[in-house]
Amino acid sequence: MNEFPPVVGRFAPSPSGDLHFGSLIAALGSYLDARSQQGRWLVRIEDIDPPREIPGAAQNILHQLETYGLEWDGPVSWQSQHHARYREILEWLISHRNSYYCTCTRKMIQQSGGYYLGTCRTQGHRATDAALRLYQQSPVTHFNDLLRGTVVCNPQLAQEDFIIHRRDGLFAYNLAVTVDDHDQGITQVVRGADLIEPTVRQLTLYQQLGWQAPDYLHLPLALGPDGNKLSKQNHAPALPQQNLQRTLIHALILLGQEVDKEWQDFTVRQLIDEAVKQWQRVKIPINSTFITTDALSTF
Ligand code: GLU
Ligand code: ZN
Repeated sequence: MNEFPPVVGRFAPSPSGDLHFGSLIAALGSYLDARSQQGRWLVRIEDIDPPREIPGAAQNILHQLETYGLEWDGPVSWQSQHHARYREILEWLISHRNSYYCTCTRKMIQQSGGYYLGTCRTQGHRATDAALRLYQQSPVTHFNDLLRGTVVCNPQLAQEDFIIHRRDGLFAYNLAVTVDDHDQGITQVVRGADLIEPTVRQLTLYQQLGWQAPDYLHLPLALGPDGNKLSKQNHAPALPQQNLQRTLIHALILLGQEVDKEWQDFTVRQLIDEAVKQWQRVKIPINSTFITTDALSTF
């Protein structure tokens, strides 16, 4: 009998554009790590920021995942359908004095050194035209990463009263992700190293809500020629619809996995199944890798 709870992993893209090579690394890494432990793998569309959404992007993303053989379990979860639940958690935090309203502007925070110093903690502001911040009571000084070992957190980041409900009325990413990962029974969050800082905040929320946190693994990033992570802003091209095997093999190499030349001739399904069998977490490199624009366009 298995003494560990079954593994549940997830991929949680924002529908702000198509998936690119960088997002494939995150999707593939979380998929292979969950499947290699006979785990479930869920997909959640993080559509809580309508101004940043691109019409049709969510459907494109799901289609791209299918094309690349990354099949998910159960129905897709949509954050836009979870507002009542987010509201319920915010109300709990408010009634338990775990939060307060803040009217400070970004500029004021920049001028006081970049981290929010709790200025409004005792001001008693009302909800109108104010952000809601978590009253930080459990700073997360370090956490265990399944790949990196102990990650020591920047104390200023750890102590910051971060925003859980935005001044413009939108739910904050850290709140929504924590509530959903908890409610969906996610046991391991495997995602890019660009999300290490949000992990610190999400762990704080788990503590203040009295919930058991999942395990975390932060994957290396694919960096563009300018040294920034691949993103829509720096024009990372959408994943190609041809040469799927080559693109997958490139992604596996970046994830430090051993690949066989003959996998090029496999179907996508065979290739993914083989990659699940061969997956070795210990081989994932910790450092991010530069890839050139030329390489990107030939994938
Ligand atoms: N939705 C976030 C993004 O696309 C990722 C969230 C996560 O993996 O926790 O950047
Ligand atoms: Zn303030």
